[in-house]
Amino acid sequence: MKRAALETPLKEVYGVGPKMAKRLEKLGLFSVSDLLYHFPNRYEDFSEIVPIAQLRPTGRGEKGVCVKGRVLEIKTERSPKKRLYLTFALISDETGSVQAIWFGQPYLSRVLKKGEEAIFAGRLEYGSDGLFLVNPVYEKAREGMLHTGRIVPVYPETEGVTSKYLRRLVWSVLPSRREMVDFLPAQIRDREQLMELKEAILQIHFPESWQKMEKAKERLAFDELFLIQLKMLLLRTKWQKNRAPKIRFEVDWVQKLVAKLPFKLTNAQRRAAWEIICDLAGGKEGLKEDGKIETVPPMNRLLEGDVGSGKTVVAAIAILVVAHNHFQSVFLAPTEVLAIQHFRNLVKLFEGFQILVALLTQGKKELAQISASGTSIEKVKKADLVWLLKEGKVDLVIGTHALLEEEVFFKRLALAVIDEQHRFGVKQRAALCRKSETVPHLLSMSATPIPRTLSLALYGDLDLSILDEMPKGRQKVATYLVPPSKRDGAYQFIRKQIKEGHQVFVICPLIEESDRLGVKAAKEEYERLKKEVFPDLRMGLLHGRMKSKEKEEVMGRFQRGELDILVSTAVVEVGVDVPNATVMMIEGAERFGLAQLHQFRGRVGRSEYQSYCLLFTETGSAAVVNRLKALMKIYDGFRLAEKDLEMRGPGELVGVRQHGFWDLRMASLRDAKMIERARQAAKMVLEKGLLSTALKKRLEGMERE
Ligand code: ADP
Ligand code: MG
Repeated sequence: MKRAALETPLKEVYGVGPKMAKRLEKLGLFSVSDLLYHFPNRYEDFSEIVPIAQLRPTGRGEKGVCVKGRVLEIKTERSPKKRLYLTFALISDETGSVQAIWFGQPYLSRVLKKGEEAIFAGRLEYGSDGLFLVNPVYEKAREGMLHTGRIVPVYPETEGVTSKYLRRLVWSVLPSRREMVDFLPAQIRDREQLMELKEAILQIHFPESWQKMEKAKERLAFDELFLIQLKMLLLRTKWQKNRAPKIRFEVDWVQKLVAKLPFKLTNAQRRAAWEIICDLAGGKEGLKEDGKIETVPPMNRLLEGDVGSGKTVVAAIAILVVAHNHFQSVFLAPTEVLAIQHFRNLVKLFEGFQILVALLTQGKKELAQISASGTSIEKVKKADLVWLLKEGKVDLVIGTHALLEEEVFFKRLALAVIDEQHRFGVKQRAALCRKSETVPHLLSMSATPIPRTLSLALYGDLDLSILDEMPKGRQKVATYLVPPSKRDGAYQFIRKQIKEGHQVFVICPLIEESDRLGVKAAKEEYERLKKEVFPDLRMGLLHGRMKSKEKEEVMGRFQRGELDILVSTAVVEVGVDVPNATVMMIEGAERFGLAQLHQFRGRVGRSEYQSYCLLFTETGSAAVVNRLKALMKIYDGFRLAEKDLEMRGPGELVGVRQHGFWDLRMASLRDAKMIERARQAAKMVLEKGLLSTALKKRLEGMERE
């Protein structure tokens, strides 16, 4: 038989029929190469063949046993009651004999004949009639040992595709791995003492020993982290080859702004602002220099800070510096509500400066002329606004996706601020950068706290500024875990808050898998509350299936205080300021990660009023309760994110899943050491020029989004 090539479709592989090919596709397996990269999720140790006389029943949770013997008897019967086929066999070796039983596999007595020698592996249990091997896998002794007599791989399965089948199939295409070119430079492989790729592929499927399996795993995990980070570093290098306008630091405007703030900047805010100012000027040297260097490598910085840590002011400082240099800035927000909110806040913040600020969303186009003598805001036509942007008259435009439309173009764009950056794709960011002849500096902002190691692994193409300090005097949102018995009390409490003129959020989780957006859950809860609990109150419903216009409408009403209670799904992203809201009530809290719950909590406590976060959970599980209790003790988003990482794994962290590379099979994002090793290796490849053709080819296959 001809050896299949790595890219050979599985349906052309010997022994795979069209039906099976379809099933394999369900597992995401299309080619031979896919199959070789379909790794076992666990193994069973059947490597030791035990003499029958020494067999002991397998205890609960213990691994199975493996025996080699001859079939003395085999017969299939139908159980009288359950109409199930039962196959019985008696197996013996030189030391003794043991019974085996299989359920629902009548064909066995045809395949496995009396007198045949085979290896059997499985659990050994007491039956009505002594010790039985229960549903053992078997393998005739003259065939190669795949299912028994070794460390046996167990694969992620799907209907009609068993591990047993996969084992045989993988085994049959395993020789194709010889075509694989090891893309990892030998120098790195040696330094890190990693297993060779072909060997790793062999050992991950059919390990000769546990040590070899571990080495294979290490190699394959390393690959994943290494490739991601190398890709990131390459993106970074590529980005830095661009030239963006050099923005000189103009201290007077910044001083003036800071002086008129009603609060003192936190040290973290100062630090972040300074880092950005340096980037804009092309490094610290650029600040002092008096020559006429017009361009510098563009900034690409992520400003990460908990909800309420004050990212907007930091962005405002950068915007002001840019405006003073007679360049333009754009501020991209994920929703219209947020865009409008930023517009209002920034216009207020810039009072007294000489600056022209525009708002551009699907629904709203406004222009604010700010000068020393006052501020005037007027509605404008889109065409006029587009013209003003193109002519370079507008210093700052704030808006939504509408900014990405083709007709929008800037004359002198120097800074793009992207709020809630995980809501935007790489393509959208790239589109923004093409909107001007000048490449803008990029400032992405995120309220999603991610542990530092993860940031490095996932956003290695960005520089990082972290606001790890909350403004002084922020009150803590009192957080309670409410048991089912206290639900009525909680409702009374809510009623009281509303009577005092406050507002309440109710967040509902996704309940059924089919209800992907949690629409059903939110709707039902809304109906229930309206009918049974708060019939006299003004309630609104918000979910991801609503048109964005409807969403804006409801959000707007809540913001204006026209609604007392807003029932919402988690998909409706937050970031919205409703200072008057004092209660955040979360149903099914166990279904959310801690960091995410913390984000919800950040929606309240934005005013001088004491605010509350009420967590509801129906499960009494101690583990769940303990996890949620962390929220009562910890108010730092980064620490909560780390706890999430510890307790639930990285897949649950907001922002991680949105990350296009989220396809790690072997590596764990919890493994800080491995991330660091891979990072160093990726750096070394670039520094020492080890980027081989094989490596380049491998990288090509992994475009983000
Ligand atoms: P986020 O980081 O969530 O975007 P914002 O920028 O919206 O936070 O800031 C939240 C609130 O905190 C705003 O009302 C802002 O004016 C205020 N604020 C920002 N910085 C400080 C500070 N250093 N001290 C006190 N209040 C601040
Ligand atoms: Mg914000």
